[in-house]
Amino acid sequence: MQTPIRTTVVGSYPFPGWLSFASQHLHEFGPADIEEMIEDAVIAAIHDQTAAGLDVITDGEQTRLDFNLSFYGYIKGISPDESATRKFGPAAHDQRGKHQITGHLAAPNGLGVVQEFLRLKKLAPAGPVLKASIPGPYTLSGRLLPNGEYKDRFAITEALLPLVQKELEDLVAAGCREITIDEPSMSCYAYKEDTKRFVDIFNKTVEPVAGKCNLSTHLCFGNFKGRPVGYRSLKPMLPDFLEFKVNEIHIEMANREFAEIELLSSFAERMHVAVGIIDVKNYYIETPEDVAERIKRCLQYIPADKLSVAPDCGLSQTARWASKQKLVNMVRGAEQVRKSL
Ligand SMILES: [Zn+2]
Repeated sequence: MQTPIRTTVVGSYPFPGWLSFASQHLHEFGPADIEEMIEDAVIAAIHDQTAAGLDVITDGEQTRLDFNLSFYGYIKGISPDESATRKFGPAAHDQRGKHQITGHLAAPNGLGVVQEFLRLKKLAPAGPVLKASIPGPYTLSGRLLPNGEYKDRFAITEALLPLVQKELEDLVAAGCREITIDEPSMSCYAYKEDTKRFVDIFNKTVEPVAGKCNLSTHLCFGNFKGRPVGYRSLKPMLPDFLEFKVNEIHIEMANREFAEIELLSSFAERMHVAVGIIDVKNYYIETPEDVAERIKRCLQYIPADKLSVAPDCGLSQTARWASKQKLVNMVRGAEQVRKSL
């Protein structure tokens, strides 16, 4: 049985200031400098998460510094296309870089997540569960532009699916026992796309590893530069998303002020539920008492042994000082409620 009110994270953690700076000047560093820098950043992310006392930690995605070090850098047959990217003005999703597909999509050396997991395993202390996260093929397809061979987003998704599948199998083979497949594009676009098709894509992706590790998915409504992009309701996801073949579903709730919290009970009948109880977009720091009160609300719909608590999304867009304190308070609040059970 799972630890009641398990404390976990989505995946990313803010880069330290020096790492953000270095990521803008990577050409000045050699490969060995970059490896050292990445390792130091992962050590810092592990430190902050273990000091907070989390049950589950990640490498903070500290290696995903730029195009070459992120998934897109591992995918052959694409090249960056910034022809339509807006560079200035208010931050929004049209400022995210896109890629042209220039050849056959393949990832002969994997997507890099196995190396991330092995580094985390090497550096992390015994105790917390070590989690790897990987974007699902639908989310990953969002920044690739269709062409003659890959006619639309679904065709690109189909082509990326085996690449993600292979990485999942390799992660399990490397000893990873906790994996999140990030598919926030599915929650963002559930209101206008065929949700049954989403479920088919998702279940096909995880099929080779289902039952071999603790599998979860992260569904949020967007957090690029701290801004949402989706229609923020759970209703369009139901009932189809109940068919996701996962052990745990993570859903953003705090920034939506726990709207539709009652709908979480239908998920809890089928799987464990990780609730976003920390608002990654708000610089109000939740106190342990706020956290305890939020957890008690969740317990009305989800039994304690099926409930995990987490921030709404990855913390990469939230300043490190705030992220750190938010995680500390989240764990304190969870401990308060655990004691009272
Ligand atoms: Zn998210």
